[in-house]
Amino acid sequence: MWEQIFAEADGYLNQIPTVGHDTFCISTRIPLPILVEEEKALDYQKLKGKACLKKRLNDCLAKAIAKKTGKPYEINGDIRFIFNFIRHKLTWEYLPIYIFGRYNKLSRGLAQSKWHCIKCAGKGCDYCKGKGRMYDSVEEIVAGYFSGIGKGTKLDFTKSHGLIQKKLVKPQMASRFHASGREDVDARMLGPGRPFALEIENPLSLEFDLGEIEKKINQREDLRANGLRKVSREFVELVDQSHFDKEYDVFVDCEGEVSAAMVKELNSIADLEIAQQTPERVLHRRADLVRRRVLRELKCTQLKPNLLKLHLVCEAGFYVKEFVYSDNGRTNPSLASLLEMKCTPRDLDVVKIRDGYLDFMLHINKI
Ligand SMILES: [Zn+2]
Repeated sequence: MWEQIFAEADGYLNQIPTVGHDTFCISTRIPLPILVEEEKALDYQKLKGKACLKKRLNDCLAKAIAKKTGKPYEINGDIRFIFNFIRHKLTWEYLPIYIFGRYNKLSRGLAQSKWHCIKCAGKGCDYCKGKGRMYDSVEEIVAGYFSGIGKGTKLDFTKSHGLIQKKLVKPQMASRFHASGREDVDARMLGPGRPFALEIENPLSLEFDLGEIEKKINQREDLRANGLRKVSREFVELVDQSHFDKEYDVFVDCEGEVSAAMVKELNSIADLEIAQQTPERVLHRRADLVRRRVLRELKCTQLKPNLLKLHLVCEAGFYVKEFVYSDNGRTNPSLASLLEMKCTPRDLDVVKIRDGYLDFMLHINKI
């Protein structure tokens, strides 16, 4: 039996990729009834402790693959070889890869994640001019630059009429976008950028040049990416769960003239706790709660009697626009309530995310 398995496996081994990965791992699929029978036999013959079928198969395969590729076996290697015991079939897939970076959004018409058209849910209609989307998104644009390696397509080798044939199965774009928070569609993301990670499932290849991809993205008018690098899944979880303080700039049109005394008072604000009931505009996707967030600093510059420029430093989750216009009193205190006049925000920019912790974690290589 072993001879037969390995005679066939040898045919597959001639086809396996020998470049594009540094390490490999193995998964052997043996049907449960066989494993149960094996356990019974081992028990009966009091042979417990003797290497089981799965382990012996894995060891033999690991040796053969290491010899063929010159690469070492590792428990979570870059590429996983899957051996099907019943069909004597060897397939493989690359494990997901995670690309971390920071993006700048220079357009006021770009969503962070895929946003399907509300009329056709993505199929394409007159309302969305056939695009299926309300807006283009950072997620789709970034993923597009990796599409050559991230189609999630798996190479499958099957034997037919004595010949090993290569065919593509499961063709689908398989990537996920992770980010540390998000800005509104009409807000720009400036400064050092927002931390994000692109997860590419089952990549076709691990051979790509992140510097080149970054250069290509940065030829765009609407989006920039910087510091692209491969990271671990644990690091991506850190990005996902992070809540960093943020700095914003926003212009405010005031209904009346703002006095110099009032501007002075605004500039003295520090660590002011603000109650924010879920904004009306996001009620459809978030629970209706009152959240308390701290406005750490406020710098107010008067450009015209009724035009202000604000620079705010606030806790994660702070709604800046609502702080300006009060959202029908749902945010309290607000700029409108402090000035006792109608205030309208415009041209909101995120100018800095205080995310130095991520660089620290990358630097000490803890994760
Ligand atoms: Zn549509």
